[in-house]
Amino acid sequence: MPKPHSEAECLFCKIIQKKIPSKVVYEDEVALAFEDISPQAPTHLLIIPKIHIARLADIEQQDEVTVSHLFSVIRTLAKQYALLEAGFRTVINSGESAGQTVFHLHIHLMGGRRFHWPPG
Ligand code: AMP
Ligand code: ZN
Repeated sequence: MPKPHSEAECLFCKIIQKKIPSKVVYEDEVALAFEDISPQAPTHLLIIPKIHIARLADIEQQDEVTVSHLFSVIRTLAKQYALLEAGFRTVINSGESAGQTVFHLHIHLMGGRRFHWPPG
């Protein structure tokens, strides 16, 4: 039996492998970004590492380069979508109680509307 949140059962690993279609907006050797299927803002992208890390809580020291690369992808995409000056919201939910529903680390990048604080 695969472990819960394992790579074998992972939706986003299947998206990386192109076994499940997605609208890819950025790809390199380390990261993939695609449109969220249920957008919560005019721009709503998901940025993921190509290696399977289930949650932010599971990041290890060896993942440091990969994870820091995701931040440079955020900036590249924010620039591409004209959000650098307009402003944008990034979200990482870690764990079910925080709202995480897909257990492959992902950064939500949202823009094109006003965001409020605190989030629900
Ligand atoms: P989270 O709730 O933080 O785990 O975010 C998971 C996100 O993945 C949600 O915003 C979903 O709308 C999105 N999502 C789920 N399935 C797909 C899919 N097949 N393609 C693109 N986005 C998806
Ligand atoms: Zn995965």
